[in-house]
Amino acid sequence: MSDIAANLQAVRERIRQAAVTAGRAPGSVMLLAVSKTWPAASIRQAAMAGQQTFGENYVQEALSKMGALTDLPLEWHFIGPLQSNKTRQVAESFAWVHSVDRLRIAERLADQRPASMPPLQVCVQVNVSGEVSKSGCAPEDTVALCHGVAALPRLRLRGLMAIPAAAETVPDQRAPCRRLSRLLESVRATGLSHLDTLSMGMSHDLESAVAEGATIVRIGTAIFGKRDYS
Ligand SMILES: *Cc1c(COP(=O)(O)O)cnc(C)c1O
Repeated sequence: MSDIAANLQAVRERIRQAAVTAGRAPGSVMLLAVSKTWPAASIRQAAMAGQQTFGENYVQEALSKMGALTDLPLEWHFIGPLQSNKTRQVAESFAWVHSVDRLRIAERLADQRPASMPPLQVCVQVNVSGEVSKSGCAPEDTVALCHGVAALPRLRLRGLMAIPAAAETVPDQRAPCRRLSRLLESVRATGLSHLDTLSMGMSHDLESAVAEGATIVRIGTAIFGKRDYS
């Protein structure tokens, strides 16, 4: 078995165990394999081991890998910061965008999503840790942004996403995940009861995220190894 196949199996087992511990159905948590910085060959190995859903952060890099993998039935999620000048490529190539943090970006995605494609699945990214440098809308702006996005054509708002600050202890990992989970409940209570997605949990904190209700975990390092940005 390749390293990637073995790592995938271990990650699936971590998710299953975390779900069982939380009294949740293991099938209620989707694994998004985050393949940023890794070549198409690594994605192909993961696909051979049964993984079909991949997350990418950089538009150009993602498009070139998609081009090399058109023979595989993969689903692509955009999870990186999204600038206005990149929205068209994202709208034309991805199934999901997790990182919508302002209405202007959502409006452009709605305008640019081809009518021939299914609606673009969208999460609103929230800055739950309150760090100035992190992207994501402020928690207090989330309800209004969700209603703005939900009203746009060609997009289907699915829920919320966060990248909590790295934390060492389980309580410190769980607190921001719980904030996102409660925020989704409060958004759902404002007439958006169809929202069903909490995108949170990475390699180091997936157990905490699943305990707090994550429905998509975004895992890179634990599947592909440590990234080299040099
Ligand atoms: C890189 C990245 C991940 C994966 O993080 P790992 O710690 O490698 O699992 C998840 N979400 C986002 C938004 C990322 O940029």
